[in-house]
Amino acid sequence: MNINEIDIFSGAKAPVVIAGPCSAESEEQVMAAATQLAAAGVTLFRAGIWKPRTRPGCFEGVGPEGLQWLTRVKKELGLPVATEVATAAHVEAALSAGVDLLWVGARTTTNPFAVQELADALRGVDIPVLVKNPVNPDLELWIGAFERLNNSGVTRLGAIHRGFSSYGEKIFRNSPQWQIPLELKNRLPQLPIICDPSHIAGKRELVMSLSQQAMDLNFNGIMVEVHCNPSCALSDARQQLTPAELVAMLDGLVHRTSEGDTSHFAAHRTRLDEIDDELIRLLARRMEIVREIGKVKKEKGITVFQPFRYKETMERCAALCVNHKLDVEAVKDVFEAIHSESIRQQLCIVNDNI
Ligand code: PEP
Ligand code: MN
Repeated sequence: MNINEIDIFSGAKAPVVIAGPCSAESEEQVMAAATQLAAAGVTLFRAGIWKPRTRPGCFEGVGPEGLQWLTRVKKELGLPVATEVATAAHVEAALSAGVDLLWVGARTTTNPFAVQELADALRGVDIPVLVKNPVNPDLELWIGAFERLNNSGVTRLGAIHRGFSSYGEKIFRNSPQWQIPLELKNRLPQLPIICDPSHIAGKRELVMSLSQQAMDLNFNGIMVEVHCNPSCALSDARQQLTPAELVAMLDGLVHRTSEGDTSHFAAHRTRLDEIDDELIRLLARRMEIVREIGKVKKEKGITVFQPFRYKETMERCAALCVNHKLDVEAVKDVFEAIHSESIRQQLCIVNDNI
């Protein structure tokens, strides 16, 4: 993929901060937030003009009229502006209003037809585009969106991690599943990644700690929803910060470097490498035994998967975790992976395709 630097970001002091209301609601509301955010030194002003709402009848954005307010922010305050686009018509309107950066929303990323429509509308227009993760945890779908845009000649690309939706009661509105954006960074190291703590959190109390986590995980910046009067916001009222709260949060963020002197813990790292080698040898031995059992299961006509045995293994491990002060859920994930590989190996044996 041909990815170039986003110049709006390069002049900015790290981390990049994109801030502004969930939705542009009125000219006064936009100008009031933007004036305070310009004074706070944010990199870019955000505001949704067209809002993808889960249920009809909610506030669905002010539409093209709001683009003129963004043009005012840009001209009068010198702050670059960004908005979400979901259709070719949105792209056309945003480009003619001189919007500096576009983002693709999570619901749009989920739909390859919609992303392709945006890519076609952007052919030959090299505006920076940030792509939010799809609402479902599907890394390939996220990467597919970058590829579609890149194939149309969009090179100034970046990602926004806004968490993944799930059903039922939960702490976060959208679960962070950090391993997915981190894997994206492994696959496309040159792609900047911004974290959107507001949509992950769903409530303002969690925005600070999520922003700190994003910094600790070496994200390039954050996109935060900010409103002068959050409780009266027409969308996402629970998760928006006031400009003063944003400033306090930015002041409180601890910045670490990924290029520090690692010699302080070189000996520990050597020991970790030794332990990892040992783990691999142990896994190989475990799989040898698993294959032996597989042969007997085949001979005696016993099914490969036996739920009671799986339950027993998991319970035994969970009890050991408590004694060793290990996180039960994290260790369960590891054992589920080991168990599913064991099952795969035995299936090969009973079906003679080793
Ligand atoms: C937004 O940024 O206001 C928005 C609608 O976000 P998402 O696409 O992440 O839901
Ligand atoms: Mn929002």
